[in-house]
Amino acid sequence: MLFKPTVWLESVLRIDKDLLHKYAIEGLLLDLDNTLSMHDSPAAERGVFEWLSEMRGLGVRMAVVSNNTEKRVKPLAEELGVAFVAFGCKPLPFGLRKGVRLLQLPKSRVALVGDQIFTDVAGGNLYGIKTILVEPFYLESKPSFRLKRKIESVVFKRDFSKSEKK
Ligand SMILES: [Mg+2]
Repeated sequence: MLFKPTVWLESVLRIDKDLLHKYAIEGLLLDLDNTLSMHDSPAAERGVFEWLSEMRGLGVRMAVVSNNTEKRVKPLAEELGVAFVAFGCKPLPFGLRKGVRLLQLPKSRVALVGDQIFTDVAGGNLYGIKTILVEPFYLESKPSFRLKRKIESVVFKRDFSKSEKK
């Protein structure tokens, strides 16, 4: 199903060796806003640096694919030491295709990690890669976001009590 993620987690920080092994994931395409950082915050959220370093230690290849502007994405991606695609146009496949190319892995080994069903999960599913839905670091207050969250919660009964907890 288009809007159903492969895995639901509380946070990107919950992705670990066991989960990657279970789903045969060797590369991650990472959403930026509310997945690695609060929306428009110049800094990564607490624990993200350490988590990235743990992932690198496991040999996981990573790239940021964000729908946000290069001006927003580039400084933070560079600080995190991760390649990036800005103007990713998720849920369309163009940015994800670029991201997979950066990872140099077969699509079957790549998962997209993001906090939004309509852009991240739908995009990953349309493109045919695994998807990991995470709880956003910060629930935006902008009306457009509020509306999307409401639709998500009503239509998809997004219930994190059913997430894979560890
Ligand atoms: Mg996001």
